[in-house]
Amino acid sequence: MKAIRRFTVRTVVPQEIAGLTRLATNLRWSWHLPTRKLFESLDPVLWQEVRQDPLAMLAAVSREKLQALAADSDVVARVFAAEQNLDDYLDKPRWYQTLGEGAPRTIAYFSPEFGITEVLPQYSGGLGILAGDHLKSASDLGVPLIGVGLLYQAGYFKQSLSRDAWQQESYPLLDPDSLPLTLLREEDGTPVTISLPLPDGRVLLAHIWRADVGRVPLLLLDSNVAQNDDAARGVTDRLYGGGGDHRLTQELLLGMGGVKALRVHARLTATAAPEVFHTNEGHAGFLGIERIRELMDPALTANPLTWDEALAAGRASTVFTTHTPVPAGIDRFPRSMVEHFFAGELAPGVPVQDILALGAENYDGGDPAMFNMAVMGLRLAQRANGVAKLHGVVSREMFSGLWQGFDHEDIPITSVTNGVHVPTWVDPQLAELAREKFGADVLDGPDWSKVYEVSDEDVWALRRRLRSALVEDARRRLRSSWKKRGAADAQLAWTDSVLDPDVLTIGFARRVPTYKRLTLMLRDPARLKALLLHPDHPIQLVIAGKSHPADDAGKKMIQDLVQFTDDPAVRHRIVFLPNYDIAMARTLFPGCDVWLNNPLRPLEACGTSGMKAAINGSLNLSVMDGWWDELYDGENGWSIPTANQGTSDEERDDQESAALYELLENQVAPRFYGDVASTSAGAAGPSQPNSGVPSHWISMIKHTLANLGPAVSAERMVAEYVQRLYQPAAEAGRAAAADDYAGTRTFAAWIAHLRQLWHGVHVDHVESHGLSDDPQIGETLQVRANVNLAGLSPEDVGVVVSYGTAAETDELTDTRTLALDSVTELGDGRYQFAADLVIDRSGCFGYGVQVLPRHPSLANSAELGLIATA
Ligand SMILES: *Cc1c(COP(=O)(O)O)cnc(C)c1O
Repeated sequence: MKAIRRFTVRTVVPQEIAGLTRLATNLRWSWHLPTRKLFESLDPVLWQEVRQDPLAMLAAVSREKLQALAADSDVVARVFAAEQNLDDYLDKPRWYQTLGEGAPRTIAYFSPEFGITEVLPQYSGGLGILAGDHLKSASDLGVPLIGVGLLYQAGYFKQSLSRDAWQQESYPLLDPDSLPLTLLREEDGTPVTISLPLPDGRVLLAHIWRADVGRVPLLLLDSNVAQNDDAARGVTDRLYGGGGDHRLTQELLLGMGGVKALRVHARLTATAAPEVFHTNEGHAGFLGIERIRELMDPALTANPLTWDEALAAGRASTVFTTHTPVPAGIDRFPRSMVEHFFAGELAPGVPVQDILALGAENYDGGDPAMFNMAVMGLRLAQRANGVAKLHGVVSREMFSGLWQGFDHEDIPITSVTNGVHVPTWVDPQLAELAREKFGADVLDGPDWSKVYEVSDEDVWALRRRLRSALVEDARRRLRSSWKKRGAADAQLAWTDSVLDPDVLTIGFARRVPTYKRLTLMLRDPARLKALLLHPDHPIQLVIAGKSHPADDAGKKMIQDLVQFTDDPAVRHRIVFLPNYDIAMARTLFPGCDVWLNNPLRPLEACGTSGMKAAINGSLNLSVMDGWWDELYDGENGWSIPTANQGTSDEERDDQESAALYELLENQVAPRFYGDVASTSAGAAGPSQPNSGVPSHWISMIKHTLANLGPAVSAERMVAEYVQRLYQPAAEAGRAAAADDYAGTRTFAAWIAHLRQLWHGVHVDHVESHGLSDDPQIGETLQVRANVNLAGLSPEDVGVVVSYGTAAETDELTDTRTLALDSVTELGDGRYQFAADLVIDRSGCFGYGVQVLPRHPSLANSAELGLIATA
């Protein structure tokens, strides 16, 4: 019989060891090894049975066992010490507390998914894991962040394979009561409920669960509330659930409901309201509408703002991060659908046409019938960024329609390269080795150069242990997968000996959208087979990844790959492991010698799995895309060359796969096996390939750890967000709100005035004097531009000369700018702007003149998208 309702009864832990409940509920355990070890030590067998989930462990321990533990003074002392350590972690000042009073008091971080631990499966891939790592590093640095997301009843799907290797999805329901979550309650004990008015008089209610990620609270909205109708209950059923309507409702709940949740949380905890709102990808963008609604609501303020004023105020304190250059990765809804939702009571008093204009694709190539969430995100944030340097370039190009007339490099989208949370992703064995040799926490700091003091033998022995752990795990997972595919135990003896702990191990695991090209390695199956079965230099491949449930092309790729791995001739050297998740990843990254990444350049915004491999001493073998494009240095791995632009898809894949085979055969494998220390020269071979130590390989590992370790850490990333984006946004937000938004009201009026007159602004005439007939470096050019300001005042604009090296196309490179700040009124709304420009370079010199808006409340002179040029 099936249960019609399930609930979880929480264990009452005896007083002496009550600290265990707290330790199990704060997710810091997921990256704090000593806490995990404490739980493991209580019952090592049970610990494995509950898959290393502390809360599940407390639920599974018998009452007798708990009594016995409570009577054991050693256990009691260790629990007490662990709790003390947690308290210290939660309370002591950390890096952020050195920044002084001006730093934002609270920052709200919105994301549709959070990947914190496998115990809380609320993520599908990179975006979620990044968000989880962001919270963890914020906690480690003491950043007062609050996460906001949704609690999905089924999270993302679990993947298995059918007999013929077709991806199967299942959605096991989660019981929030059995998860490390606390239901937010009013002081009288009733659950906090927020509500969102939907069309046709319906209402969407949601409860709020809080997860504690170290110091950082994460609020998750849950629409599975008894008072909701069935459709409303299902809104948070699964990650990125369903099509249009369903997804739009999820995003309205995340954005608008998320702001309401923050308001309640601040009231209940008597903490400061967020001063900065960070929109992690477009999905959460409606948070900006809810904030505008608040500012325009006469019930909330005596002196409500207009739309323009509220927009300016909201923008000042909002940061938007775009995560994808793949158009299919951007959320778009039919404009009419968005209009339908806002026509009702969702944001009364907020003009629907203005909301619709925020998401309008009113630029070349845009679709006027669509509402674009990334475009809205950019328009609602005064500060925006991509997630790697190259992705910054690609994003400025991709969204250039919003900044017509601007050079792409002047478009105000910067970049902050992603990072990974080191304590989560460094293998415990590596962390212990570091601790043993150098004392606590060398891996927490920005200097990893101590790795050069570790002997080659120790590094190599560790690498083998990590590889062996992966081989063990892969065998177990493969066997279980085959059982699900219908094989009997008797047929599966071979799975006990797949993979070899001494063979060069290459990993490839990620979601399976087409652009990541899971099957590039299969382009020439005979060539791949030869690499796998090479008599002296074999490689082995461990592969994993989930395809989006609606993506048959992705599922076909998985099927092609799995069918290749099913071949008895190669199945001991290549495996596909179903159900890629955080738990698998933590064994996979450390266990691989090489991490392979072959996306279609430049479609990988950043990619983080290669970073997680690198901090474990794996070497990257990757197309020059995402983070690798900026951090590959020739000694930390290999770069797979990219075909020239204009090459056909077929030719491109041929060329890039050939380059990949070539690198594996001639560089990667020989270096792994070849360079064997003299003591065991000649011992290399497939039977015992690595009794010696390949010194060049190990020098690459040390170089990778020393240089990439700190560079790819999420602490570096979060610190950059704080200094480059959160702090300026908080300052702008405070200035905007000062004196009941006095500055905002004048700023918004100024913008309106500017927009009204700007079309009349133009550069009438530019002249320059002063150079000799044969100009030399150091000579002075007097530049004068006569500009018609069409009724604006000279203080409203900045006129600059942009100069640089002129190419044949007249495109300037290496440009610099100089303000033309000597102003003469010419009458009739005309002014002359002048300055002396010192020639600072030889060769073909060129310049142009730009007129841009100027105001102290602008974060960037390009942000309004207004420019006049000559
Ligand atoms: C890191 C990670 C990802 C993201 O990997 P990318 O290289 O960014 O595609 C996805 N899933 C899991 C389980 C991960 O650990």
